[in-house]
This record gives sequence, C-alpha cells and structure tokens, in this order.
Amino acid sequence: MQSPRIFRIAFALRASFPLACCGLLILLNTGTAVTVAQAPPGSATADYQMAAKQVQTAPPDPAIAEALAEVSEAHIRQTIEKLVGFGNRSTLSSMEVNLPAGTGVTAAADWIYAQFEAMSKECGGCLEIKRDTFTEPVADRIPQPTTITNVYAILRGNDSVAAQRMYLVTGHYDSRNSDTMNTRAAAPGANDDASGVAVSLECARVLSKMASKLNLRGTVVFAAVAGEEQGLNGSAHLAHLARTEGRQLEAVLNNDIVGGNTTPGDTLQLKDRVRVFSEGIPAGASADQARRIRAMGLADDAPSRQVARAVADAARTYLSSARFMPFLVSRPDRYLRGGDHTSFNREGFAGVRLTEWREDFNHQHQDVRIEDGVQFGDLLQFVDFGYVAQVARLNAATLATLAASPGTPADVTIVTDKLENGTTLRWQAPKGEAAGASASTHYEVLWRETTAADWQYAFEVKETAVTLPVSKDNVFFGVRAVDAAGHRGLVAVP
Ligand SMILES: [Zn+2]
Repeated sequence: MQSPRIFRIAFALRASFPLACCGLLILLNTGTAVTVAQAPPGSATADYQMAAKQVQTAPPDPAIAEALAEVSEAHIRQTIEKLVGFGNRSTLSSMEVNLPAGTGVTAAADWIYAQFEAMSKECGGCLEIKRDTFTEPVADRIPQPTTITNVYAILRGNDSVAAQRMYLVTGHYDSRNSDTMNTRAAAPGANDDASGVAVSLECARVLSKMASKLNLRGTVVFAAVAGEEQGLNGSAHLAHLARTEGRQLEAVLNNDIVGGNTTPGDTLQLKDRVRVFSEGIPAGASADQARRIRAMGLADDAPSRQVARAVADAARTYLSSARFMPFLVSRPDRYLRGGDHTSFNREGFAGVRLTEWREDFNHQHQDVRIEDGVQFGDLLQFVDFGYVAQVARLNAATLATLAASPGTPADVTIVTDKLENGTTLRWQAPKGEAAGASASTHYEVLWRETTAADWQYAFEVKETAVTLPVSKDNVFFGVRAVDAAGHRGLVAVP
C-alpha cells in the first residue's frame, strides 16, 4: 500500500521577504516544492518500509500538558526584569568589596537561591537547593582568583533506581558589556542570558508545583551558572563535578539567548521556532571511538543529537498546536561562539544549546549606548517574554517526558557475526526496568534512511532483542524505551 517515500522540501517564505530578492524564491513562494526522490517513480516498496509503521507523535500526558499551561509570561518577565535590575552581573564582581547594594553577581545568586527556596516551600520541600561556591584561579579573563557560584535545585525522581537518571536545564546568570572585565558599567544581559535563567526558573516553578501529579521517576535539575562570559567556568565546574561523582546525567538543555530578540525593523526574525544545536561527533570521543563513528557512519547519531531529537519529539506532542517548534541544527554551536553545553559535552555528557532564531549582535556583549541613532545594549525592551515562555514550555515538556520515561536502553548491539540481509539487535533494559513480555516497558526499534534527519520507522517489541528483515547496511537503527502511558526515553544507537 505504501508508495516510495518522497522527501519534500517545501519552502515557506514569509510574505514580507523582499520581493526584489530573486525570481527563484518568488517562484517557490507560490507553492512550488522541490522534491528529492530516494527511489524511481512507481518502484516497489523497499523492505525497510514494509517491516514497520512510520513513527507517530506520542500521546500527550495530561499532567505534563497542565504543567505547560502553568508557564507564565508575566512570571518570566518578572524574573528577567529582576535580573536586569542587578545592574552588572559580571562574574568578576564577586570580588568587589564596595559595590552598591543590590547590584552585582553575588546579589543575583542570592536572589536566584531565594526563588528556589520559595518554590520548594510551595511544594512541601520537594526541591533540594544547592549553592556551590568555588574559587577559580587566574586565567585569560580572570585577573585574580575569583569566587564563582552555581545555584541549582534538584527535583528528585520518585523511583529510587530511576532517580539516578538526571536531566538538567541551565542558563547563565552572569552578564557582560563590551569589556568582559568591566564590573561597573551597565551590563543588563536581558537576553544573554537572563532569558535562559528565566527558562530554568520557570521550569522549576511549574514542574515542582505539579510534582505530585507528574509521575517523574527520573531526577530533574534546574541550574543557573556563572562564569560563562569568562570562559564557561561555572558550567565546566558543574560538569566536572557530575563526572567525578559518577552522575548518570543523560541530557543537558542549555538555554542561552532565548529572548526572541525584537528589534524594530527586523523582518527576518521568527517567533515560531528556536534553534537547537547539537554535536555530531562527541567532544569527549577518544580516537578509537571517533574511528568507529567514522567506520559505521554514525556522525549524526551522538547522544547529544538524540537529545535534540527528543526535544523535537516533545514539541510534536505538546507544542504543534501552539505552532512552536525547534529547528534542529546539526552543529555544536554557532560560528565564533560557544556555550555551557560544551562544558558538559567535554565531560562526556549529552547536551544541546537552545538559541533564538536570529540574534542581534548590537544587543549582546555591548555597552548600553546610542550610536548614530542605533540603540546598543542587551536591554529589556528587546526581549519578547511570550517567546521565552514558549521556550520554557519546550524545555519543561522535554524534561518531564524524559524523567517520566523508563530511561535509556543500554548496550544496544547489532549482531554482525555473518554476512546477511536481515538485522538482529540486542540491548539491555534501562537500569531498574524489568525485561520481557510481562514488563510494563516496551521498546521501539527505530530506523531511518541514512540521509534522513530524524527517525522514520518504528517496530514495537516487548523483549530486548529483535530480528528484522531490514538490512543494517541501508538504514540507521536506534532503540528507545516507552512506558504504558507513552512517555518515550532517549534513543540509544548500536
Ligand atoms: Zn550567553
């Protein structure tokens, strides 16, 4: 019944796109689509298409949907306004002794800590709140030994084994102006990165408030780190801690510059999507691992990329009706820029970066000033709080889905002991999950054409092994665990 799969690349250009641009684009705007066929027209259905159904959107969990409805644009606005109010949140200001009261990075840390405390009070002490202060030695952008503080709250999972799995959302609360060493002149950092901190705090607020209704078996961590602008120091410290303590940290969502910059006259900004950057070859891969990734063609299947796909999957379930979707970028970060997810990637953890569609570089890392009639500076007036709220919903949906899921299958293996056209896969149940026909967890064996960006086909199985009449040479395989309610864990690849 199935026809050969055709990939359609539809160009939906905004009406406001300059008409003078070029004839080709105008032609496409009239509804013409470019089609790239993987098979000749009218050809037979291939084995990999017959053996399964196409991947479906997961059913929504009413409790998660209720939590997302709690996300408040007004609350996000208050958070960003408050953070801007600290004047200059340079990490270096922690060493200043005579800052005006209520300004500087330490005052901001105190306030964030107090927000977590207030949330925890509301949920009967459901959050464990940490304030981790350490001294960073002299470095390129650190002129003297400087104390740096990470503040985070832990919403512990309700299953003692599954609670070892952690999903972390973070933003950086330090800010900067044109000079990274300047601790006095205004550095509002409304977008970079009060917006990301607001996402972290809002996720903490709505998920802790709904904690008794959400069946979160895994643990969610809500972080606000400092030192980002001095060299990712806060996140590097936290990631190193997670590794040396042997934490089972399965995904990091780093929100940095998610304010939906609103510059009057910018017709190319889009408010219905957020970019999600992910690494293809893990930063922490050894030479031998990199060699194997190359040999098997797995450069698009790093754990970080599976996190990016999980973000897209959660969006399809919870945000497609709100018309807000992630735009996955298969690249660790933007050109010339870095971010806190990199610290986690370097320590071997999967992590992605979320950033608004189009950044305005006049409103980042700039002294607040007007030059030739142009306003510079990372000011409140350029932040779209409704946009930040959508990004917060996307984060909360992803975190809650992953924490509610059965976890990630382990040791996924493709059996390659002889030449054959079929594929046998084996794996282990996630830690603490029962395996076999009576278990409540089932698995989706997923595959996609090697040129496809996301999983296309799924085959459901209760056991932890399967043989399929699909050639492992022609597709990429992955396996994920799904519970009875449809919560999907991260995909593990062989
Ligand atoms: Zn930033």
